[in-house]
Amino acid sequence: MLDASQDTPLFSRRDGHLWAEDVSLARIADDVGTPTYVYAASGLRKRYQGLAHALTGLPATICYAVKANSNLAVIRVFAKLGAGADVVSEGELRRALAAGIPPRKIVFAGVGKTKSEMTAALAAGILQFNVESEPELVALSEVAMSMGLRAPVALRINPDVDAGTHHKISTGRKGDKFGIDIDQALSVVSRAAALPGISFEGIAMHIGSQLTRLEPYRAAYTRLAELVTVLRKKGIAIRRLDLGGGLGVVYRDETLPSPADYAAIVRDTVGNLDCDLVIEPGRYLVAETGILLTRIIYMKDGTSRRFAIIDAAMNDLMRPSLYGAHHPIYPVRNPDSHAATSPIDVVGPVCESTDILSAQYPLPPVAAGDLLAIGMAGAYGAVMASTYNSRPLVPEVLVDGAKMAIIRPRQPLEALIALDQIPTWLS
Ligand SMILES: *Cc1c(COP(=O)(O)O)cnc(C)c1O
Repeated sequence: MLDASQDTPLFSRRDGHLWAEDVSLARIADDVGTPTYVYAASGLRKRYQGLAHALTGLPATICYAVKANSNLAVIRVFAKLGAGADVVSEGELRRALAAGIPPRKIVFAGVGKTKSEMTAALAAGILQFNVESEPELVALSEVAMSMGLRAPVALRINPDVDAGTHHKISTGRKGDKFGIDIDQALSVVSRAAALPGISFEGIAMHIGSQLTRLEPYRAAYTRLAELVTVLRKKGIAIRRLDLGGGLGVVYRDETLPSPADYAAIVRDTVGNLDCDLVIEPGRYLVAETGILLTRIIYMKDGTSRRFAIIDAAMNDLMRPSLYGAHHPIYPVRNPDSHAATSPIDVVGPVCESTDILSAQYPLPPVAAGDLLAIGMAGAYGAVMASTYNSRPLVPEVLVDGAKMAIIRPRQPLEALIALDQIPTWLS
């Protein structure tokens, strides 16, 4: 993240102080308070455009997976670049529409769409539903018919490929809850093609998240191409393939394939099938462009370990306690870049032993009151936050060159508490 060789560094040091583009993080902390998320708009654009460039020549739409970061301003940045959206709930559908994504570029995924969600998406006129089971297909057909419509559908097939990623974010193996087993594909596709409220458009896959190798993609897309051939031989028309998301990012020291390498696999495997393509990256587009800015409340010296107790916690950034995920941590003020580091447990104030942002993280000398930036927090950060311990949702700030804006204010404690109601019989 702090690689000075980047042409436009999203986060860089000036005189020992960390900046987001042309705004100093210390100033953001003064203006907005801590903890707060900070995103760099140039980084969002750079990622999107790099991927779009790699896919040049392919009939591909990038449908940003909104669940990675669903702030309207973030979605708007992508909308302005021509992106579509991949949504998994009515809430995300509404966000995508409110941010200006054209309905005809919205894909609705997810294993458990309710009839009211189907109704909302049909009314909006989305590009396609990625359907994950036969009962869902039947329900969608009924809803569409009751509205006098046909629902555009891609069936999500589970290719039985191990994505080689963390088991908690792997989705494409037999036995995962996602998709329709590839052996059942022919029968379910035939059913779909015959249902009166369904317009069968194509096949979808999504094999997992944070993939760092391309072989699983090659294996899955090869199966996808074979399936297309089989289905076409049976007389079933297929016009669109949804290749899913999952492209990985560098949290620690992963080596990653380039977007060009990924695009080459797409070309090799499904590029000649005369189908429109959809890809659904989430993390890849937003992870590196976000930090969680936090302040050290206390330094505590135990007998064997040293703790930095910070004002951000597992409820604000859940990935470390949920997946054991690693995030880089940078002191915002580090006047001596050669200072020796020592291992520190960076922990939050929440009353749970798992509220550890990072154990034994090597940090230069830090003190109470210092600011820290937790890196790679743009994806699956703010969106997974909760109000556990009655901690209000933290603000989000977007920086764009020298401009900065609060894109979600800190939730007032009054608003958090006002959601509850005491029944009259207890008054
Ligand atoms: C979560 C998800 C994505 C995005 O995954 P990333 O790893 O963030 O790219 C794409 N498609 C589907 C169906 C998903 O569930």
